[in-house]
Formats: sequence, C-alpha cells, structure tokens
Amino acid sequence: MFGRAPKKSNNTRYYEILGVSKNASQDDLKKAYKKAAIKNHPDKGGDPEKFKELAQAYEVLSDPEKREIYDQYGEDALKEGMGGGAGAHDPFDIFSSFFGGSPFGGGSSRGRRQRRGEDVAHPLKVSLEDLYLGTSKKLSLSRNVICSKCSGKGSKSGASMQCPGCQGSGMKVSIRHLGPSMIQQMQHPCNECKGTGETINDKDRCPQCKGEKVVPEKKVLEVYVEKGMQNGQKITFPGEADEAPDTVTGDIVFVLQQKDHSKFKRKGEDLFVEHTLSLTEALCGFQFVITHLDGRQLLIKSNPGEVVKPDSFKAINDEGMPLYQKPFMKGKMYIHFTVEFPDSLSPDQVKALEAILPPKPTSQLTDMELDECEETTLYDVNIEEELRRKQQAAHEAYDEDEDMPGGAQRVQCAQQ
Ligand SMILES: [Zn+2]
Ligand SMILES: [Zn+2]
Repeated sequence: MFGRAPKKSNNTRYYEILGVSKNASQDDLKKAYKKAAIKNHPDKGGDPEKFKELAQAYEVLSDPEKREIYDQYGEDALKEGMGGGAGAHDPFDIFSSFFGGSPFGGGSSRGRRQRRGEDVAHPLKVSLEDLYLGTSKKLSLSRNVICSKCSGKGSKSGASMQCPGCQGSGMKVSIRHLGPSMIQQMQHPCNECKGTGETINDKDRCPQCKGEKVVPEKKVLEVYVEKGMQNGQKITFPGEADEAPDTVTGDIVFVLQQKDHSKFKRKGEDLFVEHTLSLTEALCGFQFVITHLDGRQLLIKSNPGEVVKPDSFKAINDEGMPLYQKPFMKGKMYIHFTVEFPDSLSPDQVKALEAILPPKPTSQLTDMELDECEETTLYDVNIEEELRRKQQAAHEAYDEDEDMPGGAQRVQCAQQ
C-alpha cells in the first residue's frame, strides 16, 4: 500500500478512541461513549485529556453530518470546514447530557446544537457549628422536568408543526430603515413559538404538560456540608436545575453563607475569641471555661506568676477549625485579652499597692524645680472620636477649597 492516509487526515482515530468499528451504529457509539466517559471522568480520578478526547470523538461521530465529513476527509477537514466549531464543546456538557435528563432527542440529523441550561444558585445559611462539625441539610426545591407523558414533545402524537411565524427557524428578522440607502437587519427569537420553531396543534396538546413539554416537580436535595467548609464555598448538584427539551440541564449550586457567631470569629482555619480579665486576674492569675463549638468545655488558665498584659493574645493549638477535606487537622484558637482596670483607688489602696508593686521611677523633683513649672489639668478624652471629627473637618475644608469636576470624588470623600 502506498502509505496510509497521512496523520493530518486521519479518519479512524475517533473510532479507535471510542473502541468501536467504522460501521458502528448510533446506539453502539452511545453505549461505548457512556461506558468510557464514566470510567475516565476526572471527578472519578480519570485522565482529563482522555475524557476530552472521548467527548470530541463522540461529538463528531454522533452527528451524521460531521461523521460523513470525518469519514471522507478526516479530522482536519472538520477543524477547518466547520467554522472552528468542531471539538470546541465543553466535554463536561457532552457528558452531562447523558445524565442530566435530556438525552439526545434524535434530532441530531438536523445538526441541532444542544444549549446549556442555566445554573441556579441558592444561598445556604449555616452556623459556625455546622462548619465545625459538618452536617447535612435536606432542602425541598421545585424544578421543571421533562414531561413524562409526552417525553418532552408537548404533543400526544409526538408530532409538532413548523411554526408558521418563523418557518421553523425560531428566529424572525426585522428590517429597520435608518436612512434612504441604509437598512439594519435585526434577528430576534420568534414570539409565536418562543424561539423553538414549532407549534403544537391544540387538539394534539399533551394533557399533562399542556404542550409546555415540562412539568414542575418537587425535589428534595440533601446537601452535605463538610467539616471545614468556608463561607462562600459552593456545593454543586450537576444537572439538577430546570430541565428543558434539547438542553443540557444546568446545575443547582448552593453557596454557603456563614451566620455570625456570638462568641467565635473565624479567620481561615483559626478561631478568635475575646476575653476580658479583671486587673486582679491579669496580675494574680485566672482560670475560666470556654465552651467549644462541639460543646466541649475547655479549661483556660494562666501559669503561676504569669502576668497578662492588655490587648495581648494567647493561642491554643488544634482547637481552631478543621481543615476542609483534612478534618483531622485543625487551626488554632486565639484568645484576645482585654484587661479591665479599676476606675479609681482609695488612698489606703494606693498605699498598699505602692508597698508591693515595683517602686516608682526615682527622679523626684526638688521644690525649686517645681516652682519653675506650670500647672496643667488632665481631661479624659475619647481619642477615636476626636480624631474622626478632626479628619471630617479637614475633608470639608478640602472640599471647599478644591473645585472638583464631577461629583464622583465628592461622594467618595463623604463616604470615608
Ligand atoms: Zn416561530
Ligand atoms: Zn407532556
């Protein structure tokens, strides 16, 4: 033989990938793809490249038009001739079309492309306890499913008529005259058939779905919230969104929203808790109990002779949040200490304290030095409040001075 077809016009590789013969039926292809795709799905640890190749091979061979081109001219002809469309599909879409409830409806001979349905996101409120311990929540949702009575045809007979409004194309073209020699053509979905290109005879309408092709269905989903999951993390149910004919069903996505906790704040894998000590506890020692998210009572106590300073932190290892998918590993629990000082002391208390506390700095002023000083008075201040007021005043002055174009800058200033 004068050499097989060169590699660029290879027209057997797709058959080899799916492990079927060149005269395999559509049914053989379907079965071969389904089996191989499940085996090679990346979610199940399969090779993503192999999975992609399978989808590509199946996409071409399952479409009689493309298969013919492939058989005659090979892979490259498809890549060049099909407007770059060949193999450009998401392999996951092709895969989920098998399991999302809307298998190819035999309409592929018309070369109809599968649309992908929309994903539906739901917020899911969870407590910090839920994220610490893990939990499962049952949620009842309503979704559209393909009508079982008519298998999504919408009619008793399974027949549908071409929409007279758009001659079955699903689109209408309107022409707008923009000027004497200028027109604008605009395409929009046909309003008579909602873009489907078909209508159903009134008498032939499916009694169950009234010709809508889908019916609402209640479905209970059990959402597993795993230990260590984060606020904003998504839990996806592939192919559980609304079904529609000739559409790859989208996903239902739950987005975790962690409710604030009265005691703990979470930062990544760590937990933060506030604790206020009296001055006596800070100086002479303390012990107290923290009830953890799982109900365990943690005894927290100081070391003998240890002094805790205001605004200091201490940490307990392995009492933070469990790590996602590594729940046996945990972060830290940080305790932030505030020390409450007494507002005033009696002269006796001062004397008693002076006797035990480290002595004051020794630089006593002489009477003569004192004579040269000016008396002052100390007031209590709320420094944060005062600084905020001063900053605001500065901004107002700035606003008056500068004549700024546009209001955007001004708004920004006012918000600070
Ligand atoms: Zn129409
Ligand atoms: Zn029906």
